Amino acid sequence: MERLLIRGARVIDPSCGYDRSADILIENSAIAALGEMDAADAAVLDAAGWIAAPGLVDLHVHLRDPGQTQKEDLLSGCRAAAAGGVTSLFCMPNTTPALDDPALIADLSARATSASARVYPVAAATKGLRGETLTDFAALKAAGAAAFSDDGRPVLTADLMERALKAAAVVGLPLFAHSEELTLTRGGLMNEGAVSEELGVPGVTRAAEEVGTAREIALCAATGCPVHICHVSTRGSVEMIRAAQAAGVPVTGETAPHYIALTDECLRSLDADYRMSPPLRTSDDREAVIEGLLDGTLSAIATDHAPHTPAEKAEFAKAPNGAIGMETSLAVCLTTLVHTGRWDLLSLLRAMSTAPAALAGIPAGTLQVGAPADIVLFDQQEEWTVDPDRLHGKSKNTPFKGMTLKGRVKATILGGKIVYRAEG
Ligand SMILES: [Zn+2]
Repeated sequence: MERLLIRGARVIDPSCGYDRSADILIENSAIAALGEMDAADAAVLDAAGWIAAPGLVDLHVHLRDPGQTQKEDLLSGCRAAAAGGVTSLFCMPNTTPALDDPALIADLSARATSASARVYPVAAATKGLRGETLTDFAALKAAGAAAFSDDGRPVLTADLMERALKAAAVVGLPLFAHSEELTLTRGGLMNEGAVSEELGVPGVTRAAEEVGTAREIALCAATGCPVHICHVSTRGSVEMIRAAQAAGVPVTGETAPHYIALTDECLRSLDADYRMSPPLRTSDDREAVIEGLLDGTLSAIATDHAPHTPAEKAEFAKAPNGAIGMETSLAVCLTTLVHTGRWDLLSLLRAMSTAPAALAGIPAGTLQVGAPADIVLFDQQEEWTVDPDRLHGKSKNTPFKGMTLKGRVKATILGGKIVYRAEG
């Protein structure tokens, strides 16, 4: 039997409110015991001074596999995940070809068995993400799909979205909505507001996202079928979701670390690494997003890890949208939310592990005895500066480059095996 003893960490498990100094004994691939113990025959990982928590669950990742592997691939993306403490991730279907076919889902799942994170494929909701015909939800689920989305873009019409919500509910998997009214996007490159006007750069109005959010909520209310709103970035979206939840509508929401930490002021650099969809918004939107996390309106933090090559990101106006995020997400959230005193550590860890696991219905986000031994170990106090050249994925398009963050992942354990250890 393989045994690993993690010794002396502060163990925080949001699934049961556990927060105390303890050892964790792992046998084979599962958590066998928590408490003070000696296990003479076990390998020992000294974790004194570190925090041990359930491995992070990231609901929104672009692995770019198949077909865009110059940006990222299944294995490089999972190395980036491990370096960020992410042990379960949901990968989006806007690949080449799109993940709209059961054979593609099965192939991805088979290749993922050797990766350093658990990969949950999100299948396309419509064939080729074209917004014309629904995919076969039951067959995709049988092949290993864990959710449905046309992410990268919205499900094109309200009629199709309504049918997608019903089909997802029938098979019991979540529908992840990229909320955007494409006729309002109009080629904008950043948030439309004072900064875009000053710069003379075409902007995207908040209404592009909010019309989409309103559509998804209306369809969710009309059908009673759950919907999950991805990457919420505006005050209006947060307020609509909050009001709908209060009325009993089964809508959930997530936001991303860049909407918590950054604003459209970053775009003054005209650096395409700060361009994403939806775009970085104003400080008022950022404040609303944080309030949405604090009061539970937004239950999950997901990265929208979106790798693009340096060549693709070279020219501000021509670059594709998206930023990488898995290796920095915990540190950014610790720095912005916990070290500022705005949020407690247990609640942050819940939003990054237990809550997204529950939302997506996967066995993760807990350290209870018998659970898979997926664990992140981090030093809450260690400071480090983000150097794109030292990250573990293939691409370098991080909007946190050069920032000094407080809190660093020291080791990541997946199914009882150490899949990442920080240098030094
Ligand atoms: Zn999206």
